[in-house]
Amino acid sequence: MILILGPPGAGKSVQAELLSEKGKVQWLSLGQILRENLSKDVKRRMEKGELVSDEVVYGLLEKALDEAPANPPIMLDGFPRRYSQLEWLVDYSERNNCEVSMIIHLMISEEEALSRLDKRGRLDDDVETVSVRFRQYKKDVTLVVNTFGERGVTIYEIDGSDTIENVQKAMIEKMSL
Ligand code: AMP
Repeated sequence: MILILGPPGAGKSVQAELLSEKGKVQWLSLGQILRENLSKDVKRRMEKGELVSDEVVYGLLEKALDEAPANPPIMLDGFPRRYSQLEWLVDYSERNNCEVSMIIHLMISEEEALSRLDKRGRLDDDVETVSVRFRQYKKDVTLVVNTFGERGVTIYEIDGSDTIENVQKAMIEKMSL
């Protein structure tokens, strides 16, 4: 399993989707899965940029992971986002022999990210919500990089500010996909 990290607007979904289309990974985005399974409470939290409850996330993610074919590797986007989720992931991946093998960190400045999100205009892309999501991203990075880095998992930092094509090329090269 591969984890992809990056601030809102870094291009995680664009890049992961391109890799999926090429058959190199199976992209699983928690944000996307949640948007397809909106309840009132999920919608309210997402609109504020707040995390949805673990119970909801685990149920949806477990189903998606169980249903995914064995190959190509899963590229998980938006998970784990807190320590309880990290423990859940480690437990699930050990039980199912799909441990985290690599981490991609798509990096971009806050200014560039903000200008991209301004153009995208998703419901949770307003200034206030974006700042909550940025703070969350910084926590995600610390959690994931510290824990998996200590376990010896390779972390590739990729400049996400280049063109879509160049970022895609850099990812394929670094990941040897
Ligand atoms: P993203 O598409 O990754 O920017 O996520 C959009 C929103 O979905 C987040 O702001 C959260 O409200 C929710 N979300 C995504 N991933 C998670 C997660 N692992 N745990 C809880 N909520 C999440």
